[in-house]
Amino acid sequence: SNGTKPPPSPSPLRNSKFFQSNMRILITGGAGFIGSHLVDKLMENEKNEVIVADNYFTGSKDNLKKWIGHPRFELIRHDVTEPLLIEVDRIYHLACPASPIFYKYNAVKTIKTNVLGTLNMLGLAKRVGARILLTSTSEVYGDPLVHPQTEDYWGNVNPIGVRSCYDEGKRVAETLMFDYHRQHGIEIRVARIFNTYGPRMNIDDGRVVSNFIAQALRGEALTVQAPGTQTRSFCYVSDMVDGLIRLMEGDNTGPINIGNPGEFTMMELAETVKELVDPAVKIQSVENTPDDPRQRKPDITKAKELLGWEPKVSLREGLPLMEEDFRQRLGVAKKK
Ligand code: NAD
Ligand code: UDP
Ligand code: UDP
Repeated sequence: SNGTKPPPSPSPLRNSKFFQSNMRILITGGAGFIGSHLVDKLMENEKNEVIVADNYFTGSKDNLKKWIGHPRFELIRHDVTEPLLIEVDRIYHLACPASPIFYKYNAVKTIKTNVLGTLNMLGLAKRVGARILLTSTSEVYGDPLVHPQTEDYWGNVNPIGVRSCYDEGKRVAETLMFDYHRQHGIEIRVARIFNTYGPRMNIDDGRVVSNFIAQALRGEALTVQAPGTQTRSFCYVSDMVDGLIRLMEGDNTGPINIGNPGEFTMMELAETVKELVDPAVKIQSVENTPDDPRQRKPDITKAKELLGWEPKVSLREGLPLMEEDFRQRLGVAKKK
C-alpha cells in the first residue's frame, strides 16, 4: 500500500555528479558555417555534451574535424525532415541552407526543411521537455518598408517568389514555434539573424562577403549586383554565436534581432574589400536576382536591453580574419 512506500528519491544515476552538471545539447545544421562555430563555443564548457545532426547539404565534417572522436561530442548524419529520437536538454535548430543559390537549388526541399524540420524538432522538444532555439532570419522582413527593422515589424514578403521557400519557410517555422509554445508550453527562443560572415563560409557559397573575398584573392573582378546601392549589415560570426547562447540561456522567447547595425551599400563593401585585400582588383556591375531587399539594418535595442548583447567586431576587423582563412583554403599567400 501507499503507506509503506519509501519517499521518492531520485535515482542514484540522476543524483550523480555527471547528470547534475552535464547539459546535453543538440545542434541541427551544426556542420555548417554558424553551427560549427557554435559547436566550438559550447564545447569549451566541460559541462556540455554536444550532438550535431546534419545531412551535409551545405555543411561539412571538415568544419568539425577537431571534435570528431571527442568523448563529449557526437555527429549524426540525419535529415531533419525525418523524425529524430534522442534525449537532450537544449536544441539549437539551425538546419537549413542559408545562401540564396543553395536554398533556391531545391526550393521544395528548402520549404520541407523549414516546415517539417522545425515541426520534428518541436515534437522532439515536446517529448523530452527540451528548450528549443530557432535561427530565423532578417528575411522574414522581406523588402522592408520600415528602416531599421524592429521585431514588431511584420514584413513585406512575396509569398510566391523564388525566395519564398526560404523567407516564407522561416515565417512558418516561427509560427510553429509560437504555436507549440502557446499550445504545449514548450520553452522557445527565436533569433532573427542578420547577414553573418567569417571563417568557414563556403568559398563558393554565393553570398556577397565570401564572393568578394574569394574574387579578390583569385584576382577576379568583384561582382557588385545592380544597383549596388542596396544595403546590408554584417555581423562577425563570434558575435553571432555569443548572441545565440545568451538568447538560449536567458528568459526571453524573442523574436530578437541579432546582427550588427553597421550598414553598408554593396558598392562600399566592394571598395572596402578591394582596399583591404588587393587594391589592384576591379569592381564590376552585374545583373541582380529577383526580390533582392533594397536595404537591411537591424534595430538591436531589444538584444541590448534583454540580453545585454551587442556586437564587438567591426567589419574592418572581421574581414581580415576571414581573408586569412580564405587564403589558407585557397592556397594564396599574402603579397609582401
Ligand atoms: P550553412 O548552409 O553553412 O549551414 C546550414 C547547415 O544545415 C549545413 O550544415 C547543412 O548541411 C544543414 N542542413 C541543411 N538542410 C538540412 C536538413 N534537411 N537536415 C539536416 N541538416 C540540414 O548556413 P549558416 O550560414 O550556418 O546558417 C545557419 C542558420 O542560420 C540557418 O538556419 C540560416 O537560415 C540562419 N541564418 C543565417 C544567416 C547568415 O548570414 N549566415 C542569416 C540569417 C539566418
Ligand atoms: N518527433 C520527433 N522526435 C520526437 C518526437 C516527435 O522527430 O522525439 C516528430 C514526430 O514524428 C512528429 C513531429 O515531431 O512528426 C511533431 O510531433 P508531435 O508530437 O507534436 O505531433 P504528432 O506526432 O502528434 O503529430
Ligand atoms: N551581392 C552582390 N554580389 C555578389 C553577391 C551578392 O552584390 O556577388 C549582393 C546581393 O544583390 C544582395 C547583397 O549582396 O543585395 C547580399 O546578398 P547575399 O546573397 O549575400 O545575402 P542576402 O541577399 O540573403 O542578404
